[in-house]
Amino acid sequence: MRIDVVSIFPEYLEPLNISLVGKARARGQLDVHVHDLRDWTYDVHRTVDDSPYGGGPGMVMKPEPWGEALDAVLAAGPEGEVPTLVVPTPSGRPFTQELAQELAGRPWLAFTPARYEGIDRRVIEEAATRMPVVEASIGDYVLAGGEVAVLVMVEAIARLLPGVLGNAESHRDDSFAPGAMADLLEGPVYTKPAEWRGRTVPDILLSGNHGKIARWRREQAFARTLANRPDLVARWRHADFDKKDRAA
Ligand code: SAM
Repeated sequence: MRIDVVSIFPEYLEPLNISLVGKARARGQLDVHVHDLRDWTYDVHRTVDDSPYGGGPGMVMKPEPWGEALDAVLAAGPEGEVPTLVVPTPSGRPFTQELAQELAGRPWLAFTPARYEGIDRRVIEEAATRMPVVEASIGDYVLAGGEVAVLVMVEAIARLLPGVLGNAESHRDDSFAPGAMADLLEGPVYTKPAEWRGRTVPDILLSGNHGKIARWRREQAFARTLANRPDLVARWRHADFDKKDRAA
């Protein structure tokens, strides 16, 4: 997968060099290109923002540098192909595991993390005439800039790419994973030693009875979801319980 990121803080994207994403890059599974938006400014101050039309507080990112940056990204990629443009914004559609799965299936993603009050709307409208655009929010809160949101999304997407996780099965039982875990949170996990500071691992996990263990894990997942995410519980349907029972 090719990934382009345009930002006024390219150094903010340095974590893309470490851990899972960094290793995926080193193995050639991810081809990441980070660009400095200010490379497409031509004044002495390298200006990327201006005051908002209609008044109000804050500044808005100017369309000209973003337009030229996206032209350059398009020109640098594989001939005849266009990226899916992912625009981080608190007003976008929620970035969920489902959306991560969908984006993991695209060969090329370009991200436009903004600062200030966001990017002049015409940039997104014009880009949408040339490539698919997904406006995505990582949560119901407002960050100072989109770089952290890009790190979140790239990591969630990268771990779904074939061969990136050591064990291909690892994300099958994750919270929110499509199938048996959709709308469910994963329950608690344990490792050795079996006793630590007087606390023991639940007996069932030491029983070797895989059917009972699967059922216990599913019950724990239901309990944790009920406690922490009643909004997910509201989406449960009896048909899904049957499916989860069969999967356990
Ligand atoms: N005025 C904007 C609003 O209320 O929707 C917030 C702008 S925020 C200060 C600056 C940038 O940070 C956004 O344009 C976006 O790139 C990024 N950002 C902030 N919160 C985000 C979130 N929850 N999800 C994704 N990106 C976010």
